[in-house]
Amino acid sequence: MAEPRTVAVIGGGVIGVSCALMLAREGHRVTVIEEGRIGHGCSWGNGAQYNVGASFPMAYPGVMWRALRWLADANGPVRLAPRELPRTLPWLVRFLRTGRPGAWEAAYTALHALNAPCVKLYQEMLGDTEWKRVFRPNGALHVWRDGSLGALDGVMDNLRTRYGVAFERLDAEQVRELELGLSPDYRRGIFFPGSGSVSSPVGLVESLMQQAAALGVAVVTAGVKAIEPGPNGVTLQTSTGPHHCDTVVIAAGIGSRDLARSLGISLSLTSERGYHITMPGIAGAISRPVTDAASAFVATPLDEGLRVVGIAEFDAPNVPPDKRQCEKLLACARTMLRDKPVGEVSEWMGVRPSTPDSLPIIGPHPNHADILFATGHGHMGISGAPMTAALISDLVAGREPRVSCVPYRVR
Ligand SMILES: Cc1cc2nc3c(=O)[nH]c(=O)nc-3n(C[C@H](O)[C@H](O)[C@H](O)COP(=O)(O)OP(=O)(O)OC[C@H]3O[C@@H](n4cnc5c(N)ncnc54)[C@H](O)[C@@H]3O)c2cc1C
Repeated sequence: MAEPRTVAVIGGGVIGVSCALMLAREGHRVTVIEEGRIGHGCSWGNGAQYNVGASFPMAYPGVMWRALRWLADANGPVRLAPRELPRTLPWLVRFLRTGRPGAWEAAYTALHALNAPCVKLYQEMLGDTEWKRVFRPNGALHVWRDGSLGALDGVMDNLRTRYGVAFERLDAEQVRELELGLSPDYRRGIFFPGSGSVSSPVGLVESLMQQAAALGVAVVTAGVKAIEPGPNGVTLQTSTGPHHCDTVVIAAGIGSRDLARSLGISLSLTSERGYHITMPGIAGAISRPVTDAASAFVATPLDEGLRVVGIAEFDAPNVPPDKRQCEKLLACARTMLRDKPVGEVSEWMGVRPSTPDSLPIIGPHPNHADILFATGHGHMGISGAPMTAALISDLVAGREPRVSCVPYRVR
């Protein structure tokens, strides 16, 4: 057991709450400081999927041509707001650099180390009964309309095999056997039996928070305005007054960018907005997360209904959502699930805190060991949360981290 410390975690999303729970399990006195409601940031409306086999960085060899095609297509899944170009350009250059084969494989290795143990760690954090209530370990499926494999598919399969990721390539008939509700246009697929989804993303955060509260974790509703390191810990200036602690963990999603800036650090973090539509009437149309590979849109059955997520929109976090993006998701839902009347549809936009190499930022401020970052999980916050929390608990305890934190260092 580590020497108990007072720890403030800024941000009550899946990352912050996981950190709070893991730290409380080690005997620390933890407070979560959240300006809104627990679990109502990006973690509220995501696609609910954990997928160890698909832990590939978003940038891959040849990504530039695909990205350009997507950007040029008004109906495509990528949008770059012209006003964000100056802020996004340096990020995009780093993103394209990650697509070089060596860098891509190195990023995959680090992502795999982070995401692969997620099921085991969630079982420890939630306990067996709660894990079974929240998790649906039904596997995950990716599907294609074109029948032929590309060169990159072989490279990815080799990497998966090397890292022990279970997967099975499927033909059209096998896709149909797994998911009868899918359009018969899909001609091939890949199945990941070790993956799955949660029944509700906000439900996952609430469940983690419940476990944390049972261990004494407190929640303060306040916005953190400034972080002031001192000789004896750290003082947070919040909207409800100062809060003193030994250690602070910045897990504020995209809000971490401004907090870092106030500490003299420019994080390589962009606001990558994504959208969902949720259709309560057709919750049971499929039984596991299905990714339409051509658009990268994902359909997942949830307690709330069938949810389709996607879109990478590079725009400021606080700009109103663009209605056209949800129309693209709806058009995709109609082609994925042919003949299913979708009925009532609700819409949502959330901001992914995304790094160019898809690796989160987990580690101490270079000049202040008591200020730690846990952010930048981009498209994979559910898979990455438990190991992030484990690494943060190692760092707070002053132990050697269970996997090297070098790839996730502050950058
Ligand atoms: C459309 C979409 C689909 C996705 N699908 C998946 C998926 O299927 N699987 C997956 O693993 N991931 C998915 N993701 C990504 C996932 O949702 C994120 O990686 C994850 O939610 C990030 O969690 P977080 O805790 O870092 O951020 P958040 O959930 O945004 O939490 C940060 C919290 O910090 C608070 N905060 C910010 N600034 C301050 C401040 N100054 N003071 C106090 N509080 C503050 C915010 O209010 C917020 O509640 C998806 C994302 C989107 C947008």
